[in-house]
Amino acid sequence: MGYVGRFAPSPTGPLHAGSLRTAVASYLDAKAHHGLWLIRLEDLDTPRNIPNADEQIISALAICGMHADDKIVWQSQRQHFYQTAFDQLQAFIYPCACSRKEIADSQTLTGSNGAVIYPGTCRDGIAKDKTVRSWRLRVPNATEPHNNISFTDRWQGQQEESLALETGDFVLKRADGFWAYQLAVVVDDALQGVTHIVRGADLLHSTARQIYSQSLLHIPTPSYLHVPVVTNDLGEKLSKQTGAESLDLTQPVEILLTAARGLELSLDEQRVNSVESFWKQAIPAWAARFL
Ligand code: GLU
Repeated sequence: MGYVGRFAPSPTGPLHAGSLRTAVASYLDAKAHHGLWLIRLEDLDTPRNIPNADEQIISALAICGMHADDKIVWQSQRQHFYQTAFDQLQAFIYPCACSRKEIADSQTLTGSNGAVIYPGTCRDGIAKDKTVRSWRLRVPNATEPHNNISFTDRWQGQQEESLALETGDFVLKRADGFWAYQLAVVVDDALQGVTHIVRGADLLHSTARQIYSQSLLHIPTPSYLHVPVVTNDLGEKLSKQTGAESLDLTQPVEILLTAARGLELSLDEQRVNSVESFWKQAIPAWAARFL
């Protein structure tokens, strides 16, 4: 099977140093494998979308020499696919009436990364006077063998996660009609034939849920590589909320070299004087390390 990789930004703001690092890593991995590299705009969380951020991201990528090898897709135009997968998962899905606050108040159990574990309050049905807020996917109980999901991450090494003890039953759809990232990403990666996922390590903890969903949908599990995220001075993941500065797109070579340093690639920087010469050095350097 040929290599298909992708970069899947959420258009919540322009590309910043963190998302550029992920884009560069996914592009390098695709090109080092002589594979295809796709762009998918993950614009389902519409209140967080910033107008034109999608076009800004696409043009920033192009300035840095990264062009998609196939049609760019927007998740907001693919809702019917998520509905089909949701229907296929019916046997494992139940409606949930809990608010965030109720979940936080009802349970002190948290996973190792501090996230609240859903305690399963609505597993056996919701009270008549309650309204549905979301639909959740039931995960196995902690004692069931398929509760533990293991995979080898190409950067982070061997991973194992207990779905019951780290996450609990998770949301696939909200009652106001929004599809959850966890469902949409699995559906789209499969439909687009993605074989290799390269993304930020902030999503390492989502991977077990995604592998579990793939198994229920009988779709293949791609290989995973999670690159370290860019952090600010406080050690927080760089994002618009944590004050990410916008990239200086008049200096594409500089910003690409910064991304490469963050990916621990050693390049002969004196000899990088154009976007083309950057990729000419960076692709073999990545291949030497990861292939
Ligand atoms: N849209 C997600 C983000 O911007 C990335 C999803 C993924 O790569 O799986 O953080």
